[in-house]
Amino acid sequence: MARVSLRKVTKIFSPGGVVAIKDITLGVENKEFMVFLGPSGCGKSTTLRIIAGLEEATEGDVYIGDKLVSNLPPKDRNIAMVFQNYALYPHMNVYNNMAFGLKLRKYPMSEIDKRVKEAAGILGLGKLLDRRPRELSGGQRQRVAVGRAIVRKPLVFLFDEPLSNLDAKMRVQMRTEINRLHIRLQATMIYVTHDQTEAMTLGNRIVVMDEGIIHQIDTPAAIYDKPVNKFVAGFIGSPPMNFVEGKIIKKDSKFYFDETDGKIRVKIVDEMMPKLEPYVGKEVIFGIRSEDIYDKLFASEAPPENTVTMACEVVEPMGSEVYLHLSSGKHTIIAKVGGHESPPINQDMDLVFDMSRIHFFDKDTERTIV
Ligand code: ATP
Repeated sequence: MARVSLRKVTKIFSPGGVVAIKDITLGVENKEFMVFLGPSGCGKSTTLRIIAGLEEATEGDVYIGDKLVSNLPPKDRNIAMVFQNYALYPHMNVYNNMAFGLKLRKYPMSEIDKRVKEAAGILGLGKLLDRRPRELSGGQRQRVAVGRAIVRKPLVFLFDEPLSNLDAKMRVQMRTEINRLHIRLQATMIYVTHDQTEAMTLGNRIVVMDEGIIHQIDTPAAIYDKPVNKFVAGFIGSPPMNFVEGKIIKKDSKFYFDETDGKIRVKIVDEMMPKLEPYVGKEVIFGIRSEDIYDKLFASEAPPENTVTMACEVVEPMGSEVYLHLSSGKHTIIAKVGGHESPPINQDMDLVFDMSRIHFFDKDTERTIV
């Protein structure tokens, strides 16, 4: 049983008093793949290092399984950590890099040999066991670092941005390998990244952090479709969610969103009206994802009350899709349309908003209204 939990953990670095994380409480379930996601400096690595025992919490407790480990050194926590810079021993070959931790712990040679060969098999390192780290590619080095963690058979694997030194293609490949590894080992894994694609593809759940606090802990789908606030909505998704400031207007018992000084005026679906009732006549932030905006020429239906005319200023072909940068006069928003679509630039075009998929945020608190 390897549940990991943090109770009210705060870390203040001294001297200087930098508050890296504030009052963090979270639970990672046994066998779960949990991703800590957030921008640089949000406190995700500090949180991981506190779980590992590499940093001491200023306040709060860490449990691994049912055991309070806050005062245990890293070696007694039954965890294995994989770092961004691999942290391999340059003078040792692959075999010895993987075997070293077990030798230190005085495992019998036969057991060490069995575990190293098993890990090498899982990671496709069998033919590289005699090589030194400098004779390996970045991806192979990272695999050795993972192998060194696997041989320990830890209760919990901790990964700190393990793929960020790899090129784009290798990153995608290693991501799939880590996914497979999780399925195969059925271990609890905690993974730190600032890369939302890694978070979405790897995580059973994602912890979205910023400025030392947790904004949301949820499945990738829930984080994407039901963000709790504007920060989460804007951090997840590529291109990011479009935000437009404007007012909720009530006319003939129907609600409309009306952009301040711009062209966007759309009818709000009836189901959203109860939650928006308190905001009638007030400023709100409207959010729509780029894939929920359609070129009218290609839309299956185009109700006039959901159709907006905007100027297409830039067209970015991405292969399978095209990003259109559209101006409402006040805001620029991005629509992601089919790869075959190429509207003329600097001309007005009609766009259909899928109003069943939009979001509204409170302008003051930035919390999700609906
Ligand atoms: P990155 O993705 O850039 O590694 P992060 O989200 O992992 O960022 P942390 O490394 O956890 O962020 O840092 C959180 C905050 O704590 C930052 O403001 C950072 O400058 C500060 N910090 C981290 N380590 C120390 C330290 N040893 N001494 C002082 N401040 C620190």
